[in-house]
Amino acid sequence: MTDSSRLRYKRVVLKLSGESLADSGGRGISGQEMSAIAKQIKQAHASGCQIAIVVGGGNILRGAQFSGSNALVQEATAHYMGMLATVINSLAMQDALEAMGLATRVMSAVPMDKIAETFIRRRAIRHLTKGRIIILAAGMGNPFVTTDTAAAQRALEIDADVVLKATRVDGVYSDDPEKNPHAVLYDSLSFQDVTSKQLRVMDATAIALCQEHGTPILVFNFKKDGSIIRAINGETVGTWIGRES
Ligand code: UDP
Repeated sequence: MTDSSRLRYKRVVLKLSGESLADSGGRGISGQEMSAIAKQIKQAHASGCQIAIVVGGGNILRGAQFSGSNALVQEATAHYMGMLATVINSLAMQDALEAMGLATRVMSAVPMDKIAETFIRRRAIRHLTKGRIIILAAGMGNPFVTTDTAAAQRALEIDADVVLKATRVDGVYSDDPEKNPHAVLYDSLSFQDVTSKQLRVMDATAIALCQEHGTPILVFNFKKDGSIIRAINGETVGTWIGRES
């Protein structure tokens, strides 16, 4: 086994949005994007870090948006559809990682035993200690929440050191950097700052869970090659959010 004693974070939850698997239009699944992420995950895993990935589904369907645009489908149903979208992405991610020689397991919050294991906390930890990457699908298995909440919740359950929130920008800004060129990038923030400044980092439930249990969140740009390994090494990357800024 690789020596992981020098890593800042030895067990992480990596939250990948559905859009991170898509091409620039944000829809569908792009082989090129997936293999670029898989390459970074392989590099991080080789350092000895235990990695649990929570994959979103926004490249296919988000429950709240879909029900807003389609009156025939009830909102709860649309959220279940969103959960299924995360399963589709998780299966794709599994093959992308295994094509690179990594051992993985997809664990679903919604039992579907023909295609994935059901999430069982102790089994998830066992996979991690055996060096397998786990891909957590179907969020929490409950409607009306997002995979951000699932990432925070699973981080607590598996006793992860940090939630790594992969985004397409360099971290948390004072405003949307894609719309406001004067937006300021924060190096670090407290959970309190995130709430009081109404910064859009992760959904409010995810922030509240991490705040209550003291699990830090690192928001970083996964598009920069090597950013995942730098994040787990504790190098300055992105915006760190903790109990104190
Ligand atoms: N979802 C849900 N329960 C969960 C996780 C996800 O109902 O525990 C649904 C919800 O509709 C959400 C969709 O699945 O919008 C896709 O997840 P998310 O929006 O978090 O994906 P991302 O924005 O990260 O791609």
